Amino acid sequence: MKELAFYDGRIIDPKEPVIRVNDRAYQFGDGVYEAWMVDRGRQILRPEHLARFERSAAALGIVPTTTTEQIGGWADALVDQSGVANGMLYFQWSRGWQFPRNHVPTPDLKPVLSGFIKVRQRIEVPRPFSVVFHSDERQSFCHIKTLNLLGSVRAITAAAADGYDDALLVRPVDGQDVVTEGTRSNAFAVKNGTLFTAPLGPYLLPGITRAKILELATDLGIPVVEGYQSPDFFAQADEVFYTSCTALDPVVRIGSVTIGSGKPGPVFEKLYRAYGRFIASA
Ligand code: PMP
Repeated sequence: MKELAFYDGRIIDPKEPVIRVNDRAYQFGDGVYEAWMVDRGRQILRPEHLARFERSAAALGIVPTTTTEQIGGWADALVDQSGVANGMLYFQWSRGWQFPRNHVPTPDLKPVLSGFIKVRQRIEVPRPFSVVFHSDERQSFCHIKTLNLLGSVRAITAAAADGYDDALLVRPVDGQDVVTEGTRSNAFAVKNGTLFTAPLGPYLLPGITRAKILELATDLGIPVVEGYQSPDFFAQADEVFYTSCTALDPVVRIGSVTIGSGKPGPVFEKLYRAYGRFIASA
């Protein structure tokens, strides 16, 4: 097994230096990316992830130079040639390289596709997670999976410095502080058997896993509310958990507050098992 990377049509060693210094992704974070899970060699929810990749690029006016099918072909090649059975595939479109540097992109730029496959252990037993509230300082177009992750980096770095696994982002919406999502995940709360998560819109990424979990919850007869909730609501919830393409994380602590019993709760467990069944059948 060998982790591999991809740059502009070539599968390469991840350590090979290939990025141009005047690449707009490198200089401005001017690009979009996508990531999905590889579980026992199978790529989970790939069409949904590739569709979001296209939408993200279109939202920034980046016109891909390859089709989604071709990207799927490169993804298959990375899985096959690396021998990575459990891991993550990542691809990004940079708007392209531009010289001399100018904030305003010229119309002749050629987008550059790069990516990699990396190993990630299968999570057999969910690891209890602790998080802390942090103001959501990220941009106001969080629904686009852009490369501008500085706000997320700052929040999770501050959380990690205080010993937390992640931050739970809070920002004012219509004058009220509300919880949006995690720095790398969507956030859910459970209260009296109902599942709550923030609504789609400009302040959170439309998680592919979020959508799947909402679908599974509905199948299981769990009532769902997509609406903004306050930090207090999350702190007083029976359960809180995070979702992203590589993990469902049960949150057992927010700051100094223990959530529910301090262990993964029954609704999380139910959804976790249902998601496991979905992955097994994917
Ligand atoms: N929100 C943010 C900010 C993220 O970076 C991610 C990870 N891509 C998610 C949510 C979860 O999205 P998905 O389920 O599609 O991985």
